[in-house]
Amino acid sequence: MKLWPAKSGTLHGIREIDFRGEYAIVTTHCGQRFNIRDSRNSRAARWLRNKWAQNACRKCRIPEWKLKKYAGTQFSEYGSDLKHRQ
Ligand SMILES: [Zn+2]
Repeated sequence: MKLWPAKSGTLHGIREIDFRGEYAIVTTHCGQRFNIRDSRNSRAARWLRNKWAQNACRKCRIPEWKLKKYAGTQFSEYGSDLKHRQ
C-alpha cells in the first residue's frame, strides 16, 4: 500500500493511481479521489517532515509500521514512481 497525504493533513492509503498525462488521479482505500498535478513541488515532502502520521485516515486502515516506514523508504519509492511517469 502506498500512502497519500491529502491537503487536509490526513494520510490515506492509495488503492489506485491513474496517470493521465499532465496529471494523475489517486483513488484511496476509503474511496476518495485526488487530482495530482506537478508532483515535483514538494508539498508532500514538506508535509512529511512537518506532520506525517499525525492524522492517518481510519477508513484506509494504514498499519502503524507503514506510517513509520513512510517517513523513510516509502517516500523514496513514491518519488521514483513519479519520475517513472515522465
Ligand atoms: Zn482514507
